[in-house]
Amino acid sequence: MTTPRYGMILIISGPSGSGKSTLCSRMFEEFSGLEFSVSCTTRAPRGEEKDGIDYHFLSREEFEKHIRNNDFIEYAEVHGNYYGTLKSEVFDRVEKGIDVVLDIDVQGALQIKKKFGSDPEWLRSLESIFIAPPSYTELEKRLRGRGTDAEASILKRLANSKQEMTCWNEYKYIIVNDDLATAQKALSGIISTLRLRSARFKEAPFHEK
Ligand code: ADP
Ligand code: 5GP
Repeated sequence: MTTPRYGMILIISGPSGSGKSTLCSRMFEEFSGLEFSVSCTTRAPRGEEKDGIDYHFLSREEFEKHIRNNDFIEYAEVHGNYYGTLKSEVFDRVEKGIDVVLDIDVQGALQIKKKFGSDPEWLRSLESIFIAPPSYTELEKRLRGRGTDAEASILKRLANSKQEMTCWNEYKYIIVNDDLATAQKALSGIISTLRLRSARFKEAPFHEK
């Protein structure tokens, strides 16, 4: 028996290189009914990234048009580029019971918390996890090991990570991504538990006769 329910909006943040993409892509393989909110960005595609799958890659003009049209739930300037979450990536899915993952920075997460934190519908949907690296040394090693960013971009990401890391306790859960398999297990456990939140069920999840 599958009971109709509202989807959750799962915010995942953490400094660049902490392992958000790695962990999320494993979650999409493991769980059905879990989908990625494809953000808009003005940064250039990196490595194998594809338009419409990893990001909607936009010019600054296109991005600013979305701002004027009020198309974003949140947007922020991160590492010198615009990034934003489109309403169209999130709202219909939540209504249909699909869980939506937002890989966004701490500014975006705090904007959502401030703007919608007291709205009952958002409170019902909103969940958040901070992914931390075990140390700055390891973060730098992973950013360099990824081999996709120019030196200037790596340095900017490392500098920004200090501020981002101070926000870890703004999130409901924190996972330290040291051993990947352990972190993956922790994330699976959190998602499985969050799927049992009674507040999101549209009706009783058992036979009433
Ligand atoms: P983010 O999406 O947070 O920027 P990525 O998922 O791209 O980070 O991870 C950064 C790099 O670190 C990648 O090369 C990835 O393969 C590697 N990585 C991720 N998690 C671990 C881990 N637990 N141990 C070692 N390397 C990891
Ligand atoms: P990257 O360039 O490494 O893909 O992402 C850089 C940072 O931008 C990451 O911290 C990522 O979480 C964040 N980010 C990605 N999409 C969005 C978004 O839609 N909004 C905000 N605020 N941040 C985003």
